[in-house]
Parts: sequence; structure tokens; C-alpha cells
Amino acid sequence: MPLFCDVALPVPLDMAFTYAIPPGMEPVVGGRVLVPFRQQRVPGIVVELHDRAPQATTPAVKIKNLIEALDLAPVLDDQLLKLGRWIADYYLAPLGEVFRTMLPLSAEFKRAVTYRITDAGHMALHLAGMSGSPARSQRTPEEQLVEFRVLDYLAERAGGRANENRLRSATRISRALLAGMARKKWIAREDVSARRDAARTIKVAVLISGACPEPVEGASRPRPSSKLNANQLTLIETLAAAGGRVPIETLRGLDVPRTTLGTLVRRGLVELMDEPQEFSVPKLKPRRSPFEFEFSPAQQQALGKIREGVGARRFSGVLLHGVTGSGKTAVYLAGMREVLEQGRSSILLVPEIGLTPAMAADLIQLFGDEVAILHSGLSHDERAEQWHRIKRGEARVVVGTRSAVFAPVTDLALLIVDEEQDSSYKQEETPRYHARDVAVMRAKMAGAVVVLGSATPSLDSYYNATKNKYALVELPDRVENRPLPEVEIIDMRQEFQETGKDQVISRKLAEEIRERLEKKEQVMVLLNRRGYSPVALCRACGQALQCKNCAVSMTHHKRERKMECHYCGYVTHIPNKCAHCGSEYVYFVGTGSEKLEELLHGMFPQARIGRLDRDTVRGREDFERALNALNEGELDMLVGTQMIAKGHDVHGVTLVGVVGADAALGLPDFRAAERTFQLLTQVAGRAGRGESPGKVVLQTYFPDHYAVQYAARHDFAGFYDKELQFRSWMHYPPYSAIANVVVRSEKLDETLAWSGELGRWFEKTRHEGIRVLGPAAAPIPRLKRDYRYHFILKSPSREKMNALLRAMLAEAAARRIPRTQVIVDVDAVWLM
Ligand SMILES: [Zn+2]
Ligand SMILES: [Zn+2]
Repeated sequence: MPLFCDVALPVPLDMAFTYAIPPGMEPVVGGRVLVPFRQQRVPGIVVELHDRAPQATTPAVKIKNLIEALDLAPVLDDQLLKLGRWIADYYLAPLGEVFRTMLPLSAEFKRAVTYRITDAGHMALHLAGMSGSPARSQRTPEEQLVEFRVLDYLAERAGGRANENRLRSATRISRALLAGMARKKWIAREDVSARRDAARTIKVAVLISGACPEPVEGASRPRPSSKLNANQLTLIETLAAAGGRVPIETLRGLDVPRTTLGTLVRRGLVELMDEPQEFSVPKLKPRRSPFEFEFSPAQQQALGKIREGVGARRFSGVLLHGVTGSGKTAVYLAGMREVLEQGRSSILLVPEIGLTPAMAADLIQLFGDEVAILHSGLSHDERAEQWHRIKRGEARVVVGTRSAVFAPVTDLALLIVDEEQDSSYKQEETPRYHARDVAVMRAKMAGAVVVLGSATPSLDSYYNATKNKYALVELPDRVENRPLPEVEIIDMRQEFQETGKDQVISRKLAEEIRERLEKKEQVMVLLNRRGYSPVALCRACGQALQCKNCAVSMTHHKRERKMECHYCGYVTHIPNKCAHCGSEYVYFVGTGSEKLEELLHGMFPQARIGRLDRDTVRGREDFERALNALNEGELDMLVGTQMIAKGHDVHGVTLVGVVGADAALGLPDFRAAERTFQLLTQVAGRAGRGESPGKVVLQTYFPDHYAVQYAARHDFAGFYDKELQFRSWMHYPPYSAIANVVVRSEKLDETLAWSGELGRWFEKTRHEGIRVLGPAAAPIPRLKRDYRYHFILKSPSREKMNALLRAMLAEAAARRIPRTQVIVDVDAVWLM
């Protein structure tokens, strides 16, 4: 066995750490180990085993031993290790943090800290008891009392030891005071974090016998209790029908409020128990496929390209550009089915799984228990379980959000990125990777086919396709040759001149809505801003109510009676007077989706209106419920944010109204036009997916803007050419690589000093072929308490740009600017 191993740790440092391997321990490359790091136990990934004794920088520093090897076999195979290294290199992220992102296994490691009373602690306790009052101290008498409570508590435990959480809740000691006691050496802090070996369990609801009497044949079923309501009865009957035991996850699938189960437990009718995980894995037999795909020639061409690449076992890329409603999903599913039939694996990435329940349902119907689902809505345990199923080869069809691109499938043949232009594929924390680009790289390493699908491909992907990096397959027609909707542009400036009022709903849109409602057709209205009003303004001094953590207006939420910051989540009460001048004239300005719903209720009191946004949708069920209601004709109208624009298929909608979707055009971000074009195209695509043709009424203050004009004409190619010209002039992607470097600190003077230092360093460092703009205050100069300054780097040479960024990070480290305060965002999608 080698003597040493290098370990990548999830810490913000660009290096691996060397540990000695104690005799008998057998760590593996790509496996996890537990190591001591700065008084803590930290799990890391072994990246190399070797016999090179490290050269200690100071002789006193002794190489520490591994504590434990956690895996007998690698959790990251060679390909994923290589992919991780590529990400660390490309996005300038610490390797250990990349690996942590790639492995959803935090459930298998339990953080735990204990405190033990020391001899000095016993002595202090003893002296206190003798003299009656402790020695002179700068602490308040209350604080001293708490300290002795802690010593007392520990002295009475076995081994003089207690778990941190238990100790803190028993004695109510603050963290600061506890740390102070450790510094005085009265107590010793010990990190005992370890692998969590407990068998994975799930919660099961168990019917308590007697709660549901045997039904009497021929007679109506006697109720277990006269006081049970319909929901409670549904649960009891479901349990009884299943033999008395059902995983609570399954019960959640019933249309019964979550609180009902709790009520039954409190009433002693049902008990909750932990059962081993095996209980939950329902052995669904894949149903014989109901999908007899009847493909158009264009769809066949797309499938042919996939088939060809999969058969060749060589990397190839396909950009599938299909207008909304053209049947991209059917192509994905057919491709995945062929791959599975060959015993190989596929991964399908979707922007937000909660928003594509139909896709997940189709997959499960087609592939049964070969499907694994990975997304952020799962608990840590559930995620680890899915990961292991994939790793063991039990699930060869993976569907998930961003991080599913790291799913440990064997023999990857097909990787599909649906809605590849969606910005949720970009992770906005370290490592700041873009899952679409990682998917392309992973497919390259695996010799697999990558399919990027979209109705509105990103400029970058489309450009790559025109440069023959990918094969371009167009699906120009909707299924069954349904026409794309007609789009009418309403100039809201003119509307204002003619009505003398700042309208939210134009006369034309109101008229069109009325017409649809009379015909019993359905309507969607998009306003891409949640809340009631986005600004609370003082009429006396003109100041807006800002978030205390961000340079951003607080949004008024009327129903929940609060002001909320949509950037950091800070919530405060609704002001009754101005915080700046004390005046009582505080007005709420502007319209969000909540107010839009209220306005529409006022205008169409008979209509049944639903709303879809982050405030009404807490989980996947809420989303499905709203969509089902629309599908079943229980709603006449659905208003909401961009959530309503994403790929669902509701056939009764014949009118889409767009209210203020162009606000982004005013933002200082070079992708604003592209995003607006994409959003408009997508929401327009919701209209007329059934028998009746659709119409879109697009209200805008920028009627002449090319993003609006081309979206109205469904002219992707026209938009693409125009936008590409602009990007070329301005040296933006795809003509230049771009990076956003943000320097941040809670202290303004630190932000200014650091960005100044780095600015001077950029000035005197040669960087041919790289433009460096800044330092300048970021468009949002304060965010989540941090003041922010930024630089923008542009270069046609990505290698040169990354080399300069690496040198800049080294310079920052030399100047002792903490690594966490300099954010390097390569291929930034958000420059605010
Ligand atoms: Zn004021
Ligand atoms: Zn905020």
C-alpha cells in the first residue's frame, strides 16, 4: 500500500492536501476518506496515492493520518474524476468543492461535535463550590452562571462528555460563550463526525387495529368514528385496503391535505413508523409501451441522428430546434428507449422537474423502475438512495435537474438537455458550472451523443451548430400541422396617450379576454413579476423602501401582508410611514402577478381565475393541481410569471396575454434581448395547442425593439442574425469568452480597497487580447449584505482569459483577500 494520499477537500482553497495512510487502511482513488482538517473531521475525495514524502514547509508541521477510508470502491469513476478536474480548471473552482457538488451523499456523513469537561474545568467547578463565588471575571454574573451550568451538566454525564446540540439546548449557552470556555481549556471540543451507517428508513403510516372495523357484507360500511371527515376517511380506507401499512409518500399522492394524517395520528387511529427502505421500492413493471410514435420526417431525421451516434459509440452533438408543440419530447423518449433496449444508459436534464411533471410521468410509464429521478426537491436520504440505485446499475434512465448531469450511470450513450437555453442550468454558487456545457464535455469523454433541445436555442448553441460543432435538426411544424398563433402587438405608450391612464390591461386585451370567456375558451396572462407591487414609494421625499441587505426595492405582498426582498428573502412589515422622512404618504407603485389577478377578478367577476408563481406554488403538487384544473376546465384563466410559459401542453388555451414581459429590455445585461425573445416565444407557444387556433396579445413599451418584433413573427432566424451582429460589435459571446469577477464584502471600504488593488494589478499586468472592464460598482451594488464591485473580462481566447484569471486569484491570495470574497464567474449568464 502506498504511504500517502492526496485528498481534495470541500474548502475554498485551490489545492489538494496530503495525508499519511495508517497501516491496514486501504483508501482508493475516487473514494471518500475522513481526514482531520483544522480541528474538524472532513470528508474528502482521494485524488492520488503515492510514496512521495511531502516536503514540510515548516519542520514542525507533521503529516496527519487519515481517520478512516469510507469507501472500498471509488464513488467517482475515472470519467467523473476527469470531468470534475475539467470543471475545476474551466470554471476556476476548488476541486474538492466540485466533487462535493457531484456527489449527493451528504446523508451518509453525520456532523457531530462533543464537549468534554477537562481537569481545569473540574477544578473551576470545585473552586466555585468552595468559595461560593467564582474568580474575578469580565463576564457578567449571568454568563458565569451559564458557564457553571455547563460544567455541572458535563460533570454529571458519563465520561464528562455531551453532544453539542444536547448541551446547548440543556444549558442555553451561546456559541460565543462556549468557544470562550474552550479557550480557557475548561472544556475540550471534539469533532466526532463520522459515517452514518444507519440503514435507510422511510416513514410508514400504520393503521392501528380496531380503527377500522371489518366491513359488513351487504351493509354500508360502518364508520370507525362518527367524527371522521371525508379526507380522514379516505386515508383510513386507503390504509385498510393496502393491508394497514402504506409509505406516507404514497399517501401524499392522494388528494388530501397533508395535515389530515397528523390529525389521525393525534387521535390514535394511525401510527407512524420507520421501515427499512426496501419497503418503499415499488416493483413497477414497465407497462407495455403505449407510445407508438408516429413520426414526421423531421422527427425521424432527429431520431436517425441519435441512432447513428449511439451506434458509432463516438461523441456527436445534435441541436434539436423545434418550434413549440413540434414533438421534441417524443424524440427524446424514443431515443432513450432504443438506448435502454441496448442495455445502455441515458440522462435527461430538465430545467425544473416540478414544472415538467408530465415528462416524468411519461418516463415512468415507459421505463418503470429503470427510472431514477434526481432533483433538489428530494431529501438528502432520498437523493442518496437514487444515486446508489444508479450506481448499482438498477436505474439506467435518469431524469433530473442540473446536477443530474453527474449521475453515475454506466455506459452512458445519450445525454439530453431539454430547454437548453434555460438559465437554471447555470449554478450561481461555487462551482459556477453550466450543466449544458458540462453535459457536452461529459458526452465527449464518454463517447456519447448529446442532444440539446429547444424552441428558442441559446445564441451560443445555435452558433455552434452553424459552425458544424453540432448537427442541426429543425422541427419547423407543430404536430398535426397546427398553426402557430397570430401575435398582435399593443403599444402601451399609445394606449396611455389615448386613455390618459396607465393601464395594466389594454382595451384590446380586455376585449379579447371577454370574447374567449364568452366562447368558453381559456386564457393565460403572463406578468413576469410576482407580488402585489414591486415598489413602495414615499410621495413626500421620493425614497423607495429598500431591503436592509440589498440595494433593491422591497416588494409588497398584499395577501400575506408583508414586504419581501426577492433577492435575499428578507421580510418586513408593511410601512405606515416613510422610513426616511416620517411622512405618511407611502404609495405602492407598479403591478405584480398578485395585483394582476385582483384586477382581472374585478374586470371579469364571473371568471374562475388561478395564479401560478413562486408564491402560490410551494411544491410540485401545487403546480400540478393548477395545471390539472386548467386542463379539466375548472379554470377559465391562469395568470402568472414565467412559470406559466414553460413547456406544458394545455389544449383549451386560445388566448395568451403578455403584460410587461419586456421589463428586462431595460436592464444593463447583454443577454436581455435574448431572454425577452425566448420568454415571449415560449409563452406565445402556449396558445392554440388544441383544435382551435391561438392568438397572442403582446403589450409592450418597446414595440419597435427587434426582440419583440421577431418574437411576434415567430422568426428565430431573423432574431438570431440581428442579435449575432450586435454581439459581434460588442465583443460578447459567442464571439468572445466572458467572465464576471465580483469583489464583495460586508464592509464597503474593504470592497473598494480590494477591487482597487486588483484593478491596479490588471492595469500593470500584460494581457494581450483580453479586455478588462472595471472595477465598477455592480448593477446591484449591494446584495445579501455584501457591497459589490466587478470586472468584466472578454477575450476571443478562453485559454488566455483563464490564465489571467488564475494569475489574478494567485495575486488576490498573496494580498490576503479571502478566496470566498472574489467570485470568478466564467461564462457568466447574469451580469447584475
Ligand atoms: Zn419619505
Ligand atoms: Zn434583500
